[in-house]
Amino acid sequence: AALTLTLAACGGGGAGAGGGGGAAGNGDDDVKIGVAMPTQTYERWIQDGNNVKKGLEDLGYSVDLQFANDDIPVQTQQIDSMITGGVDVLIIASIDGTALTSQLESAAAANIPVIAYDRLIRDSENVDFYTTFDNYSVGVAQANALLTGLGVLDENGERTDATGPFNIELFAGSPDDNNATFFYNGAMDTLKDYIDDGTLVIPSGQTSFDQVSTLRWEQERAQKRMEDLLTSTYSGGTELHGVLSPADVLSRGIITGLQGAGMGPTLADGLPVVTGQDADIASVKLIHDGVQSSTIFKDTRLLAEQAVKAAQSFVEGNEPEANDTESYDNGVKVVPSYLLEVETVFQDDIQPVLIDEGYYTQEEVESGQ
Ligand code: BGC
Repeated sequence: AALTLTLAACGGGGAGAGGGGGAAGNGDDDVKIGVAMPTQTYERWIQDGNNVKKGLEDLGYSVDLQFANDDIPVQTQQIDSMITGGVDVLIIASIDGTALTSQLESAAAANIPVIAYDRLIRDSENVDFYTTFDNYSVGVAQANALLTGLGVLDENGERTDATGPFNIELFAGSPDDNNATFFYNGAMDTLKDYIDDGTLVIPSGQTSFDQVSTLRWEQERAQKRMEDLLTSTYSGGTELHGVLSPADVLSRGIITGLQGAGMGPTLADGLPVVTGQDADIASVKLIHDGVQSSTIFKDTRLLAEQAVKAAQSFVEGNEPEANDTESYDNGVKVVPSYLLEVETVFQDDIQPVLIDEGYYTQEEVESGQ
């Protein structure tokens, strides 16, 4: 596209980071943005992809949106073909945050700015901007939601006189997703005092990130691990009270495993407290029905908006506005970032946070679709 040539001709700005260009207002029809999303298996990425595409099209840009079926070679090929297809900016939610180095080198050579979307791309100089939620605070919120669900914290976040001990198990996300460590660290830093003082006990003894992670965020893998834990640790009658789950997709697998072993089916009938993330409609229905305890709502409309703004800044030859320039070191450099806030959702929050704000309708919440 024309802009690539303009930027290349200006020759400025290292990794294409807005150095020259300034083709703004001139032939936006020719501006093309490549948007690489990891998978359509999880609802959130479909929404992310569609929201980003729409925002970019509203600016008059054309968009090459691809989903990679959680397959790393598919994603690298998609990005290669976006680059050869002449995109002006790349927006990438990576599958494996360390697998894109050669694609990013080609992008830099063609002066194509790269925006990491939601997940940081690691080990490369050629990442120009990062739009995401405050991932550490997601982990803190998940831990607090677990404590609240167990009755250790009250609704104001104050410690109650419940001392347990409460038996819990821990799950983390995919080890190749940089976010998974942030979620885990935020949660563990928050749970530590309660584990140290004996309020929380982890009967399986599985607490390290490696022991509790879930490759590719696969629901079946989480369900299987939950079933294995029930067999190895809980078959003698030890009671399980709560599970820290880092994402709704895993929460549903965990809940299926628990219910399959005869627990619940609802919190009121003794199903353990299970946390979540993403406010997937299927999990919001489970929260509405008193099955899943909580989720962390990340308004992907706002994330898409930030990514679109960042892309527009690059197209216009400017640097996008960052609100964090310290937290996200990708192993080679600290990537300037824009972090968004998250909200915890329990049953009572569905109406004000999700329905009144227009994220879901009442019918969607009730049907789970
Ligand atoms: C995202 C989460 C999501 C998970 C699984 C993470 O990178 O930040 O919102 O639940 O991937 O798709």
